[in-house]
Amino acid sequence: MYCNACGKDIAEDGRFCSYCGTVVGIAPRSKKLMRSRAERKIAGVCAGLAQYFDVDVSLVRILCFFITLATGVCPGVVTYLLAWIIVPSEPELKPVVAAQQPVTS
Ligand SMILES: [Zn+2]
Repeated sequence: MYCNACGKDIAEDGRFCSYCGTVVGIAPRSKKLMRSRAERKIAGVCAGLAQYFDVDVSLVRILCFFITLATGVCPGVVTYLLAWIIVPSEPELKPVVAAQQPVTS
């Protein structure tokens, strides 16, 4: 594999050119707002926001709660429902381990 920027030969599994530092191969995954599956309470909107902004889930939930109360409940609830519809859910993780285990019967 060759670097597109400087043309030097680099390792096949390298993600950066060791000569000029240019990102090569697979582009780094861009941050995407998604509803969390692992930490969801209702639809995972707060957990998704927490993941996106890299903050604690509880903090986001408390903030959402008080913003909802402060705005007279309805705007907060509508925003949450909209986020539920608009923000895509995290891709479901398939239970690979279970499939690989030998059948004991
Ligand atoms: Zn390079």
